[in-house]
Amino acid sequence: MAFEHKNFALNHAGRLIVALLMMVMFLLWGMQSLRNRSVALTDAEILVSSLARSLDYQVTGSLRSVEALLDEMADGINPQRWPNATIQDRFRTRLRGLPEIRNLVILGPDGTVLDASLAQPDAPMPYSTDTLADRDYFITLKRDFPARKLVVGIPVVGAFSGQPSLPVARAIIGKDGSFAGAVVAALTPDIFRDQIQSVLIEPQGAGALIRSDGIFLARLPMHEEFLGRSVAQSPLFQDHLSRTGIGIAHYTAVADGNNKIVAFRRNDRYATVVIIGITRSTALARWRTQTTTEGGVLLILGIALFLVARLYDLRATANRQLTRQLAENRDDLERQIEERTAHLAASNAELERFAYVASHDLQEPLRSISSFLQLLERRYGDSLDQDAHEYISFAVNAAKRMSVLINDLLTLSRVGRQDAPPERCDTESLAKAAATALTQSIDDQHARILIGPMPPVLCQPSHLQSLFQNLLGNAIKYHDDSRPPVITISARPYAEAPSMIEISVADNGIGIDPQYYDRIFGIFQRLHPIGRYPGTGIGLALCRKIVERHGGRIWVESIPGQGSTFHFTLRATSH
Ligand code: ADP
Repeated sequence: MAFEHKNFALNHAGRLIVALLMMVMFLLWGMQSLRNRSVALTDAEILVSSLARSLDYQVTGSLRSVEALLDEMADGINPQRWPNATIQDRFRTRLRGLPEIRNLVILGPDGTVLDASLAQPDAPMPYSTDTLADRDYFITLKRDFPARKLVVGIPVVGAFSGQPSLPVARAIIGKDGSFAGAVVAALTPDIFRDQIQSVLIEPQGAGALIRSDGIFLARLPMHEEFLGRSVAQSPLFQDHLSRTGIGIAHYTAVADGNNKIVAFRRNDRYATVVIIGITRSTALARWRTQTTTEGGVLLILGIALFLVARLYDLRATANRQLTRQLAENRDDLERQIEERTAHLAASNAELERFAYVASHDLQEPLRSISSFLQLLERRYGDSLDQDAHEYISFAVNAAKRMSVLINDLLTLSRVGRQDAPPERCDTESLAKAAATALTQSIDDQHARILIGPMPPVLCQPSHLQSLFQNLLGNAIKYHDDSRPPVITISARPYAEAPSMIEISVADNGIGIDPQYYDRIFGIFQRLHPIGRYPGTGIGLALCRKIVERHGGRIWVESIPGQGSTFHFTLRATSH
């Protein structure tokens, strides 16, 4: 199970890393965009507050100019001496410069209409009334006199114009300081609607001007419908305006269900409140676009990375499979080689045993043949003719050659059978011993043997001596008749393997044609007819077997007619 988990992790490593990376990136991006969102909301709050402040300035400015006019009227009018044509003319002229005031009405201390003739020249005035004593502003002015001199009244249908109008009333103070009546300016509520309009920045935006007690003086949207209605029960009014004059509120509008950010600002001088709201969706529009774009880019990046990682995983998995397959194949091959080597070794051993047994057992009948031939010659020699003697002599020679052959074969098959481990050999003295064993032929041929200084090597001493003896014997045997043999034995480190010593036996004999360089090391391979040179063709095969048994190699270099050099390598001793 654990292995499967490990495999799964390995096969999906690229994708797991990318997934982790993407998770971190999305987390960071999410955190950043949350931060950006709250920045966008704060910015929207700042914006909506400034819009509210701007609207407040506009509203206050309008009310201030109306107040200035009413102040001027209230100070200049004596209700007891009214009408006064000069003053009327003056205010008519003033009115022309103030289009937002539809008309001006002067009321006596009991609310009696003293003058309703001060209207804009083109204002429709189809209605008239004698008293406005029941109007809220008159009642308030009279009640709160002298503490409160100016009142913005509830929007109503004008008593004279018959159109929605917003009354702003100012008390007239009599000479004795008593309440002497009121001057009323009938404003068109549209001016405030237009002012609201001027600060709104989106079609779904909303704004309102209300009295401190919650009565709508102007509103967008649905200005007409809301005019004069009260919002005193609304959450904004209850929760916020009751506690503070300036502030921000977030709420869902009952009218359109939009989530809004609303700024409100109370003006204590005129007892009014301006409210400006923008929808959250407008406030967050840019943030949303930015976030969506970034998210999209991240997603595309993530998909691209994921695909790259998948390719990487596929390649990595394929590589791993290949490596595993190769390792399995290699193990398989090694096992096969081991099996075959063991098999070969077994059949080699079998063959060697066979050669040994065969040659050993052949000696016995051969000896009998020789003995009987000799017996035949001894007993019946006198009765045999010349030819018979010659035949017997051929048979005896053949039996002798066969005996030599069998002996050589025995020697060859003995190499490697129950060998003692290689030991440190004194190369020089073994070469000398070999030469001594060949003293007879050396003397016969007047040969000169030069043995150079040689380092010790690892070998079985008897084998090394027979190596030297075979090579020296050949060098003498295959001498050139025109010159006495000169044979040099030398040694040097083997260039291709520093742990080996290369020993060379060089002669000045008949030489060997390069085409036979390999063949001569095979068993029974001879280059000359029987009788030309004695021999069995086993000597060099024996040399090769000995050298290869000790981990070395043997080869020949020669110039036919000039001489041959046999080289072989053996392991150097470590000290
Ligand atoms: P043998 O000497 O009994 O014939 P070897 O196996 O010793 O068998 O040698 C194989 C053959 O290699 C020889 O028959 C001979 O032709 C050739 N040979 C070996 N040594 C020499 C040498 N020093 N110079 C020339 N030819 C050689």
